[in-house]
Amino acid sequence: MAKKQFQAESKRLLEMMINSIYTQKEIFLRELISNASDAIDKIYYKALTDDKLVFNKEDYYIKITPDKTNRTLTISDTGIGMTKDELENNLGVIAKSGSFAFKKENELKDGHNIIGQFGVGFYSAFMVADVVTVISKALGSEEAYKWESAGADGYTIEPCEKAAPGTEIILKIKENTEDDSYDEYLEEYRLRSIIKKYSDFIRYPIKMEVTRSKPKEGSDSEREEYVEEQTVNSMVPIWRRNKNELTAEDYENFYMEKRYGFDKPIKHIHISADGAVVYNAILYIPEKTPFDYYTKEYEKGLELYSNGVLIMEKCADLLPDYFSFVKGMVDSEDLSLNISRELLQHDKQLKLIAKNIKNRIKSTLQSLLKDEREKYEEFYKSFGRQLKFGVYSDFGANKEDLQDLLLFYSSKEKKLVTLDEYVSRMPEDQKYIYYAAGDSIERIDKLPQTELVADKGYEILYFTDDIDEFAIKMLMKYKEKEFKSVSSDDLGIETDAADKQAEAEESDNKELFEFMKNTLSDKVKEVKASKRLKSHPVCLSAAGEVSIEMEKILKAMPTGQDVKADKVLEINVQHEVFQSLKDAYQNDKDKLKLYTNLLYNQALLIEGLPIGDPVEFTNDICKIMV
Ligand code: ADP
Ligand code: MG
Repeated sequence: MAKKQFQAESKRLLEMMINSIYTQKEIFLRELISNASDAIDKIYYKALTDDKLVFNKEDYYIKITPDKTNRTLTISDTGIGMTKDELENNLGVIAKSGSFAFKKENELKDGHNIIGQFGVGFYSAFMVADVVTVISKALGSEEAYKWESAGADGYTIEPCEKAAPGTEIILKIKENTEDDSYDEYLEEYRLRSIIKKYSDFIRYPIKMEVTRSKPKEGSDSEREEYVEEQTVNSMVPIWRRNKNELTAEDYENFYMEKRYGFDKPIKHIHISADGAVVYNAILYIPEKTPFDYYTKEYEKGLELYSNGVLIMEKCADLLPDYFSFVKGMVDSEDLSLNISRELLQHDKQLKLIAKNIKNRIKSTLQSLLKDEREKYEEFYKSFGRQLKFGVYSDFGANKEDLQDLLLFYSSKEKKLVTLDEYVSRMPEDQKYIYYAAGDSIERIDKLPQTELVADKGYEILYFTDDIDEFAIKMLMKYKEKEFKSVSSDDLGIETDAADKQAEAEESDNKELFEFMKNTLSDKVKEVKASKRLKSHPVCLSAAGEVSIEMEKILKAMPTGQDVKADKVLEINVQHEVFQSLKDAYQNDKDKLKLYTNLLYNQALLIEGLPIGDPVEFTNDICKIMV
């Protein structure tokens, strides 16, 4: 019998395909099962319009049969089958999809279930098989045909016997090589797990004969093996079921089953969209941060299904980085099975879905914050940092989306508050939203810089996360109110009297301040009379854009950026210490140097910054003790 050649371009395509389109060999089974499911669907659709054809669901199934002795794996279906012509056209011409043509001919609109449309899936069989044999009998036809191919060199086709309509695909599984094992595709447990992973929600039963054991009759200890036909897939996915029929427990179970996390999710979102793009999704907001969440190792993404068939385990394009904590899956009829990762990125439908999902997550978090504050705060403890990161990244492009989801600790309320809550209770004379940054709430509580603002009765937001101040710099304003650090130059609340006194003292003691500045040389940019201190003698503030807190954070980063804040040493001119400084300036310059260094080091300690030379500092203290 003459061997027919694949069409020339098909031949090249076939080689390329086998070696490059699919990254994992195991997906051949997904492709063949999807084709089988399509073939059954076709009968179903025909029956819709053909009165002579009755579709009894029980008659339709897919069967997987491994045979270790002959090294074959058979995938058979009771679907529509193929005529001789169809075998030639659909399997002989690569990139020709009979399923795509079927959809066109039958004018099936969106919402149909047929998966195939690319005409390449079938060939994935050659990734694991040396020879592929297809025995098929078309529905309504008397003859059956056998198509056979050993890969790129062509195929044969001849008549054969087959009782019922449908298709049988027999793969002669490759021998193991040094690099690859093929034996696994003959193992029952392995096949089951591949089916579960990719094809669990195929709508027809996928049957397999499984070996089980039972106690041997008349014996207590011995067992005997027997073979039983089982349906491996669960067929109806939870996301296709009606929301009203599902309980919170069902969603939790699905979360566990899928191993999205080991915690209990805080909230689930079930989407059934049939607008511009048709898809179902089940998303979860986890409760706890995964151990690797804030590391480079963490991979964001949702499971992506095309019509019940898994096509990607972690589709990153479906989630923005700032919602990277969301777990779950998306199933869409509008995506094709064989689509590659590269193509997927440009897929319009996928972009639409991603946008949709983003908005749903946002609104879910908003209502959680509004209606279930405790739960939201639980969530915020785990993932608030990521939201703040989102405000900061992409040059603030997403700040509008995220600003109302932020929470900060409030000096007045002694708990987390939203920016909106802060602004809505601002007294009329308060111009800015004040914040103080530091290592912990306890430390910030004691910061001398907060004195004046707190004294005024204004609320202060405490920034204890390293990202906080960076995020706020990106926000700049909230509801027209600018953010202001309590350590910044101009607080906008100095009382006139205090201002005037500080100014007067400063000009009266110009040389003193200059002497102090020279003593500290480039450690500070300036030494000046403070307008913000009330009871503390000294503090450090920053003159430029970079705050002292930011300097600390940048320094601690792995890339170790040595960006320095322009530090200003502020002296409380109303404090007794100031008198001592003045005296020292008049009578003992060495003493003034000593005092200056001491005050500077104290200010560093208050800020949580390391002292340049601790031994010298200790010696200095001893000097004033003797
Ligand atoms: P696609 O599924 O994207 O159309 P495939 O390469 O997977 O491409 O399959 C090519 C064509 O072969 C299908 O469109 C279908 O017409 C036909 N075909 C493949 N497997 C079967 C089957 N089990 N029963 C009937 N037709 C099949
Ligand atoms: Mg296919």
